[in-house]
Amino acid sequence: MRTVTELSNHKPMDPPALGEPYLLTPGPLTTAYSVKEAMLRDWGSWDDDFRAMTAELRQRLTALTGDTKAEFDCVPIQGSGTYVVEAMLSSLIPRDGKVLVLANGAYGMRAAETLQYLNREHTIINKGDYMPPRGDEVAAALDADPSITHVFVAHCETSSGILNPVAEISKAVYAKGRKLLIDSMSAFGAIPLDVNEIRYEAMVSSANKCIEGVPGFGFIIARKSELEAAKGRSHSLSLDVHAQWKVMEKTGQWRFTPPTHVVAAFIKALHIHEAEGGVAARGALYAKNRDVMVAGMRSLGFETLLSSHWLSPIIVTFFCPSHPNFAFENFYDLMKAKGFIIYPGKLTVVDSFRVGCIGRMDEHVMKRVVEAARQSLVEMKVDSAAPSDEALAERAKLAA
Ligand SMILES: *Cc1c(COP(=O)(O)O)cnc(C)c1O
Repeated sequence: MRTVTELSNHKPMDPPALGEPYLLTPGPLTTAYSVKEAMLRDWGSWDDDFRAMTAELRQRLTALTGDTKAEFDCVPIQGSGTYVVEAMLSSLIPRDGKVLVLANGAYGMRAAETLQYLNREHTIINKGDYMPPRGDEVAAALDADPSITHVFVAHCETSSGILNPVAEISKAVYAKGRKLLIDSMSAFGAIPLDVNEIRYEAMVSSANKCIEGVPGFGFIIARKSELEAAKGRSHSLSLDVHAQWKVMEKTGQWRFTPPTHVVAAFIKALHIHEAEGGVAARGALYAKNRDVMVAGMRSLGFETLLSSHWLSPIIVTFFCPSHPNFAFENFYDLMKAKGFIIYPGKLTVVDSFRVGCIGRMDEHVMKRVVEAARQSLVEMKVDSAAPSDEALAERAKLAA
């Protein structure tokens, strides 16, 4: 746990409560104290005050896409991010549609699984644990199968931390006259997804990622024409995006009990986001976090799965050291004792762990993360953090 002395060494922007470990995870993440404080009152869901909060939330989120022509609208949906992915897929894809899922990790595969539940026809380009789907292979797949109507991609595939080339993919999709749906869960708010730069029909994200709120709802930002067309498509009452949208437009209310405190916290987080400089500043802060943390970890001998070109400013995958004394569980406990919660890896082929760069943290915190990793290696008697040859061979595939 952090001590008072440690805290006084630097002034984070708005530090978490004393004694809380930093969450170096892709959400839930470390939130500002003032965001937590915003939850210290109760709201009536039907009351004008809360309706105004819902309207503000929708308006501010839509504005983050650069939509100046009022072509898009935002619909929040109760639940975690997966709920809003399912809501988007079931509401925006016609029952006789067919989806090309671009998968390079767990979230792409989860979208395919969701389509299975929804009985929507789909096909997958599965790139394995992390290789990026590229525009030319998307174009070829669309040429080969004219029945494909939609393409799904994860913006940042959080399982490896790779930032997928969505601009290139969007060009390929629309050149072939199809529609793009983006899971920008872990990227939105820090990495631009400007509708004037990158064409798409809809994107989804959630409260507890780069806007730095607490978990409890997700949101879809979609073309109004797509929201209109979604009428009657959903298999699910509670995940019906069209119905939620229509009721919100008419009454200003959510259809079923909204997560009122989460919304209040999120609005505070949106105000902080704007005051700090919006998407560009948030992205720059996280990129600095990543650069300081990755440089420090590399200086200790750790190696990243991805080359610098593909590293997102969201979360970074490191190979576990091959040293016989290294065990991830011990490393995790030692890091936690120093005030930092890290994240297990999701690679199927080699052992890895992840360190997140998002949340209320700056480069000073990231330097302390590196120092904690150094000390933890000493305590484990691991004198080299170098990965196995197998891990390095795996990585060479990406460079090829
Ligand atoms: C966090 C995340 C989700 C949603 O996961 P939940 O556990 O349901 O919040 C979906 N896609 C991506 C890329 C994510 O990072």
